[in-house]
Amino acid sequence: MNYTTITTEHITYFTSIVSELNIILKEEQKHPYGKDHTEDLHYMPACVITPTTTQQVSLVLAYCNIHLIPVTPRGAGTGLSGGALPIMGGVVLSLHKMNKIINIDEDNLQATLQPGVINYDLQQAVKAVGLFYPPDPASWGSCMMGGNVAHASGGPRAVKYGTTRDYILNLEIVLPNGDILNTGANTLKYSTGYNLTHLIIGSEGTLAVVTKIVVKLIPYNPKNVLMLVPFTSATDACKAVTSIFKAGIIPSACEFMERDALILVAQYDPLLHVVLTPDTQAHLLIELDGHHMDLLQQQAEQLVKTIQAHSPIDVLYADTEAQKELLWKARRKIGEAVKHQSAYKEEDTVVPRAAMPELLQGVKALGAKYGFKSVCYGHAGDGNLHVNILKDNLTDSQWTNDIPIAIRQLFELCKQLNGTISGEHGIGVVQKPYMDVMMTPTHFNIFAGIKRTFDPNNILNPGKII
Ligand SMILES: Cc1cc2nc3c(=O)[nH]c(=O)nc-3n(C[C@H](O)[C@H](O)[C@H](O)COP(=O)(O)OP(=O)(O)OC[C@H]3O[C@@H](n4cnc5c(N)ncnc54)[C@H](O)[C@@H]3O)c2cc1C
Repeated sequence: MNYTTITTEHITYFTSIVSELNIILKEEQKHPYGKDHTEDLHYMPACVITPTTTQQVSLVLAYCNIHLIPVTPRGAGTGLSGGALPIMGGVVLSLHKMNKIINIDEDNLQATLQPGVINYDLQQAVKAVGLFYPPDPASWGSCMMGGNVAHASGGPRAVKYGTTRDYILNLEIVLPNGDILNTGANTLKYSTGYNLTHLIIGSEGTLAVVTKIVVKLIPYNPKNVLMLVPFTSATDACKAVTSIFKAGIIPSACEFMERDALILVAQYDPLLHVVLTPDTQAHLLIELDGHHMDLLQQQAEQLVKTIQAHSPIDVLYADTEAQKELLWKARRKIGEAVKHQSAYKEEDTVVPRAAMPELLQGVKALGAKYGFKSVCYGHAGDGNLHVNILKDNLTDSQWTNDIPIAIRQLFELCKQLNGTISGEHGIGVVQKPYMDVMMTPTHFNIFAGIKRTFDPNNILNPGKII
């Protein structure tokens, strides 16, 4: 596809639509929009547009569609697969100024909001009226709801409550030709033809721009028990996860953290130091939530009995809110701490929960074969293991030539274990070369047909997913 290079004439048109306050042209101001949290990749956009209304999004898209200008939608840029990178140049359409919570409907347990609302801000706003929006990516302090929808994001609490996909009732979207439409209805049930809402969720900004989101809310569970459980073997920690669910206990979070993950966090931020005994190889961070503390304590006792079979070193309860906050902060900072340590590649592997031990052993075997060090952590209750491959002492040639082969073998293992290559971070640009591990030519044809239907000129986030 030959895209059009942006000229002053195009800029004049964009300015007439959004005003000069909402266009960024200076190199140093555009620079941050050329990267996200994916490795060290950077692609400079020709211009950044920050619309404030759906109408502006519509006019910009319609114009770009006619003039064959690539458009990359963007939220906060916390994505880990390069989805928000303008790899073909053109326009970055940053939705961060469309950041209003329009309505919290306490009668229907719903909220309507714009895509630039930060996940944590939504959580806090609904909590203030006794309600809960469960999807909580570890990046919740900065990631935006439009990005969450585009990636079908999960988070620690997905294990009990589900992912973003389970909480979106309806979306307002703008198609590349500028048409504005609702994908569904604000109802808990929907059986009215193809489900466009679910097609847009997880579509990574390649089909339409999300301009309004209606989410489902549930009552807030005010009580919780949080425990940190160290193990001498990472495999035993993973096996314990299976036993917990087999015993009929559904924790509200069940996170796995390798020893090195917590060491890196403590180096990155000494205030987040968690004491590690010399023989600790991995931790589970387990949360139970509910309305009654006595019931939670009973459940915690049952859980502790259940995991004894896997020889935990100890069970450390977080007694105060400050201790809970420290543990959660440490968990949420692992990604940043790893990035701070070394160049790295993060793989978002996911397998059926009981296959986690085999997946972890496979990662370490590949590390031994290809000479890489990995730091693994993630949403163990979902079977979702984030495998961080560090560049560390690898040569540039090993990094460029051998690691992609190792990653392909890792993904083949995921497939063999009935899992897949991304559970929540999406495909974007960095996982695209591996899509053939999971997808057949028939899948690719269906994907391409869907893309053509929504975006026949291929202007919206081109070069992503397929
Ligand atoms: C430290 C850290 C921890 C993380 N933890 C988690 C986690 O626990 N769970 C998890 O799922 N993810 C996690 N992530 C990944 C990331 O935060 C999520 O993918 C998040 O949803 C991205 O939101 P964003 O606003 O930053 O989107 P961006 O990175 O800006 O964009 C992501 C994708 O969404 C598209 N997009 C953005 N807005 C729109 C819109 N309005 N319309 C259409 N397309 C749009 C973009 O084109 C891009 O393809 C983590 C990331 C970091 C850095």
